[in-house]
Amino acid sequence: MLTITFLGTGTSQGVPMIGCDCAVCTSDDPRDKRTRAAIHVATPGCEWIIDTGPEFRLQCLREKIAHLDAVVYTHSHTDHIMGFDDLRVFCHHGRDLPIYASKQTLTDLQQVFSFAFNGQNLFPGYVRPKPHVIDGSFFLGETELTPLPVQHGRAEVNGYLFSQRGEKIAAYLSDCKSVAEPVLERLRGVRVLIVDALRYREHPTHMSVAEALEFSNRVQPRETWFTHICHELRHAAAESQLPQNVRIAYDGLKLEL
Ligand SMILES: [Zn+2]
Ligand SMILES: [Zn+2]
Ligand SMILES: [Zn+2]
Repeated sequence: MLTITFLGTGTSQGVPMIGCDCAVCTSDDPRDKRTRAAIHVATPGCEWIIDTGPEFRLQCLREKIAHLDAVVYTHSHTDHIMGFDDLRVFCHHGRDLPIYASKQTLTDLQQVFSFAFNGQNLFPGYVRPKPHVIDGSFFLGETELTPLPVQHGRAEVNGYLFSQRGEKIAAYLSDCKSVAEPVLERLRGVRVLIVDALRYREHPTHMSVAEALEFSNRVQPRETWFTHICHELRHAAAESQLPQNVRIAYDGLKLEL
């Protein structure tokens, strides 16, 4: 059992975008209001988040997240890490908070948030990260997380596959332009695919709707959810043009899997 809550489904600038009065940025549909991409995953006995963007605090308040057992990062772009300092509340009573990321992402986090990692600020109420370098699959509670290295422009970033008792339940690839064949092989048989679909037009570091659809056709999951959306996709109109088992995620959406 696994519940995914979409904390944020927006691209790096969020939707609405500052200073923009386009039809999507001024839409009344709450699904067209997108904070920066992140998910919360709850399983019996263990819960974690993937990424802490700039709205992390607001996302936690909205979804009433009061406890975290771990934090997992996809990569160190600012739209995925800038809420890091708000992790302090999840380190009650001097508790260390396990942080899982690739070697490169951890190095970047240690540089940007050196005050948290340098061991000199172990004061009550400060964030206490316990870094874990991901070098293969690992378990959080009874869920196995398999890192899925994908190309995101020039950067290689991690998506994640969540499996329980050998069953591939869901995969989260929030930022990707292309996926190599061996990674695609690992995804085969996954029930739910969550994938980057920035907009209709092509982009150098993100999949377009057409590219994400093609990728979904290759993976053949039972259902696909698009995320990391920009202000060029109006939720209702864009979703109505998709096949029935392909949907567009929105902030606050919960998938009970
Ligand atoms: Zn991003
Ligand atoms: Zn706009
Ligand atoms: Zn990125």
